[in-house]
Amino acid sequence: DLYNKLIELKGNIRVFCRCRPLNAEEIAEGASTAIDFESAKDGELIVKGHVSSKKVFKFDSVFSPEEDQEKVFEKTAPFATSVLDGFNVCIFAYGQTGTGKTFTMEGIEGARGVNYRTLEELFRIIKEREGIFLYEVTVSVLEVYNEQIHDLLLTGSQPGATTKRLEVRQVAEGVHHVPGLVEARVTNMNEAWEVLQTGSKARAVGSTNANEHSSRSHCIHCVMVKGENLINGECTKSKLWLIDLAGSERVAKTDVQGERLKEAQNINKSLSALGDVISALAAKTPHIPFRNSKLTHLLQDSLSGDSKTLMFVQISPNENDVGETLCSLNFASRVR
Ligand code: ADP
Ligand code: MG
Repeated sequence: DLYNKLIELKGNIRVFCRCRPLNAEEIAEGASTAIDFESAKDGELIVKGHVSSKKVFKFDSVFSPEEDQEKVFEKTAPFATSVLDGFNVCIFAYGQTGTGKTFTMEGIEGARGVNYRTLEELFRIIKEREGIFLYEVTVSVLEVYNEQIHDLLLTGSQPGATTKRLEVRQVAEGVHHVPGLVEARVTNMNEAWEVLQTGSKARAVGSTNANEHSSRSHCIHCVMVKGENLINGECTKSKLWLIDLAGSERVAKTDVQGERLKEAQNINKSLSALGDVISALAAKTPHIPFRNSKLTHLLQDSLSGDSKTLMFVQISPNENDVGETLCSLNFASRVR
């Protein structure tokens, strides 16, 4: 269809930039906004600077603070169709802690995010294609923390158990597998959502501060789809990855020590590795450095080939955050 043709013409990597609103505290403090959305319609975002130093960034879409979850999903929905058409899809939320990564992916009460809406769209299309296609859907929930992969469904099913560490293994040329990963079979939206919620809850268990922990680990939902065309017998196998990345903020070595420093170094390592891989893929470099981090190794099959990638770069409008904002925008411009 037309959408897929456009994707082919423009390459398989999309970058959407989303800015959160100023929060009540910032408004009370009289914080000013550093971002100008005048040309957001054309995918342009301007970081206001002092006189001559204003910077213009270009993305596939720019969402201003006024644009709600529906608006964002309008542009995200085509990726659900791609998954059912047999494409691997990776959707990431990247950015400084507090910029809305979890808001975009998971959403909040009364404002569902990309995860829920994409699953709902998957099951809607599966229903629509009934009699022509037969689909089998399984879901997994993982976390990458300190360069270790943990299965959150396994913990969920055994309360109190420590999370099991998993490894990525190459089982054939271009085929990677995570032996022992729990893959829960689901047949409808309610079942799928219940499993994903179980995983999210398991994540909070065993961490003294759930919020802090979640900002320092990558939260990963994987939806695996097997499809069979009942008319011509053709089969497809594809994966949808929904990833709420660890916070991208830089931490000064002088501010943290021990465990916190190790965490910060691991986050930095995996986010740079992700940036390197996506930009190498965009540039069609022959050697792609997938092995440099657990995250890129895990996603290897789903980032290469004719896979589709969507990166949300989340930013704060606050002038006080402009340093981190510029870092995030530069990262996103590099992968585009
Ligand atoms: P992160 O996951 O990047 O650390 P959160 O998703 O937790 O950030 O967002 C921080 C706070 O800002 C939360 O209270 C969240 O509900 C709010 N927020 C983020 N983005 C938006 C938005 N677009 N509209 C309204 N509130 C938002
Ligand atoms: Mg978060």
